[in-house]
Amino acid sequence: MSDGARGATADGVSQASQGVAILGSTGSIGTTALRVLARQRDRFRVVALTAHANAAQLAEQEDAWHPAFVGLVAGDGGRASWERGTDALVGAATHEEADIVLNAVVGAAGLDATLAALEAGKRVALANKETLVVAGELAAAAAARGGGEIVPVDSEHSAILQCLGEHDRADVRRLIITASGGPFRLWDDARLRAATLADALNHPTWSMGRKITVDSATLANKALEVIEAHFLFGIPYDRIDVVVHPQSVVHSMVEFVDGSVVAQMGVPSMELPILYALTWPERVRDDGVPRFDPVAASPLTFEPVRHDAFPALGHGLAAGRAGGAAPAVFNAANEQAVALFLEGRMTFADIATRIGEALDALGGLPGGDRNALLAADAAARAFVREHA
Ligand code: NAD
Ligand code: MG
Repeated sequence: MSDGARGATADGVSQASQGVAILGSTGSIGTTALRVLARQRDRFRVVALTAHANAAQLAEQEDAWHPAFVGLVAGDGGRASWERGTDALVGAATHEEADIVLNAVVGAAGLDATLAALEAGKRVALANKETLVVAGELAAAAAARGGGEIVPVDSEHSAILQCLGEHDRADVRRLIITASGGPFRLWDDARLRAATLADALNHPTWSMGRKITVDSATLANKALEVIEAHFLFGIPYDRIDVVVHPQSVVHSMVEFVDGSVVAQMGVPSMELPILYALTWPERVRDDGVPRFDPVAASPLTFEPVRHDAFPALGHGLAAGRAGGAAPAVFNAANEQAVALFLEGRMTFADIATRIGEALDALGGLPGGDRNALLAADAAARAFVREHA
């Protein structure tokens, strides 16, 4: 706990409040986090906010929260006091008043901020899963050097963290990550080939940013999450399974060596894993999310993944197993293909096809340091643009 500002708890006990920097504060996770923090003002204060280009929304957030640091990465407008450019992310992530850095940026753009925060000894509440996919080993090394730690925001990984409790990985037989299946769970191949952008953005259980919503439709998101789980929990890929669970109530499960399976459940709201990432290993009272009603949530069902219909998942799993720069190539090819799909310049089915081709061409590139990984990232983006 920091020696920052003092707050008073409900029972009058004074305690230190923790400083939170929010990277990507104007996005789906960022705005959800501010909703959570508005109910926890005794415990946390917002010390830094950054956005990509939405100056008007960022100014509103500054007026509401009075952070010490505000950064706008791109775009005009905003205030003279704001930091500008990509350095603003690292500036917020390493701000001296920040105890916790919520990285809610989308894509590999969040990488340097995560590494810098870990190096500076911060807790990183990580929504930006792409960080761990591109550079899981570098993040672990930065945390070891600087004393920082990653606590996941992703609902599946928050679930696994909660299921693990005090157990270490030697007690774990298998992680079982649940997937909603996305909007195309039941679509046949002919229908999938004609899927439109509007179809892909129509997620059945979660309301999220556009990139992750498309990732959930292709199941690329589940591949990113398997790789994320591998690096977060140190579990080999052959002991991480994915199962489709359309209701998004069981957020994931851990099977232990004695055969017992522990699952974590709750209403599908990101407010729960966001708060837990801030307070872990503690739990704090919060009444902001509707109470869980098992009868209303019924029935809970599970299905196998249709790998043939959603090849992006298999490509990502193969990239994870291959290691080196392959996960970075997978992530960058996916980011570029999704961007083209969102611009109406690529079909839904082409996303997975281009990812597979990019991995065939570039998946053998060496990993290693940040520069090698960023070179692989750039090569994969260029490959997908050239073959669009
Ligand atoms: P979003 O698009 O709604 O928001 C992204 C935020 O990042 C915005 O504030 C935007 O201004 C900022 N941003 C975008 N590009 C940037 C760049 N190049 N540099 C700096 N800032 C940039 O996305 P989201 O749905 O909030 O997702 C954010 C991250 O959280 C993603 O990694 C996503 O996979 C992960 N995640 C999201 C959810 C969810 O429910 N939305 C759930 C689990 C994980
Ligand atoms: Mg998730």
